[in-house]
Amino acid sequence: MNVIALLLLLSGYPGQTVVVDIAFEPELEAVTLVWQSQEIHMASDNAGWFALLRVDLDVKPGPYEVDAVFRYAGNRQERRTLALTVTPKAYPTTRLTVEPKYVELSPENQQRAAQDRKRIDAAYATTAAEPYWSDAFIVPVAGVSGGRNFGHRRVFNDQPRAPHSGTDLTAATGTEVRATNRGRVLLTGEFFFNGNAVFVDHGMGVLSMYLHLSSILVAQGQLLERGELLGLAGATGRVTGPHLHWGVKVTGARVDPFTLPGFQ
Ligand SMILES: [Zn+2]
Repeated sequence: MNVIALLLLLSGYPGQTVVVDIAFEPELEAVTLVWQSQEIHMASDNAGWFALLRVDLDVKPGPYEVDAVFRYAGNRQERRTLALTVTPKAYPTTRLTVEPKYVELSPENQQRAAQDRKRIDAAYATTAAEPYWSDAFIVPVAGVSGGRNFGHRRVFNDQPRAPHSGTDLTAATGTEVRATNRGRVLLTGEFFFNGNAVFVDHGMGVLSMYLHLSSILVAQGQLLERGELLGLAGATGRVTGPHLHWGVKVTGARVDPFTLPGFQ
């Protein structure tokens, strides 16, 4: 295996998706990236090879290296390095007041939240390796161009909780919610914190979630086209009022949905 010097210089902040593009090369059959102990298999399209790297919210700013293994015809391999600079980003703190049952959980609700977590994690383990999508991602609510609170530190009824893992979009109860891109419905259901929720697998490690819905209009396993209606916004679960919580995970980490391809 030959080690070749630096291939690409990348930069991103915690909570960002970083697009990696590599040009076609003769006889190149596969490219695998290794980032934070995770193997990421690059996909190919008309333009070359691409992958989405995510910088999780708790990654410390500083210089990092991403290993890349290039596999060519005839079992030839080359190892290269991508430099990734993680730049700092300060997220504000939001203080919220919700029904006390969502902050001081009863034993029944603790159990329910733990069961929800297990069910969601089990679904996450069944995602597709190849991308279902090829076009840019879109905002799931018509007429909304930006989110407001991804990554905000959160204090519920004076108690600190995990940072906000998605972005809240303004949406009255009954507003149509559409798939951000092509994908398969991974899971639907009613959950303690999330309320009525739809989880969509876009393949290649990309998942989107639509929480607090008033109604769910799709079934598990269904293939959705980009922009297809999947539910109606509402105020179910841990909320202060009606809105759409739109979350995105890339290879297991929370990212700001507005850093996906199509928004930058
Ligand atoms: Zn939210």
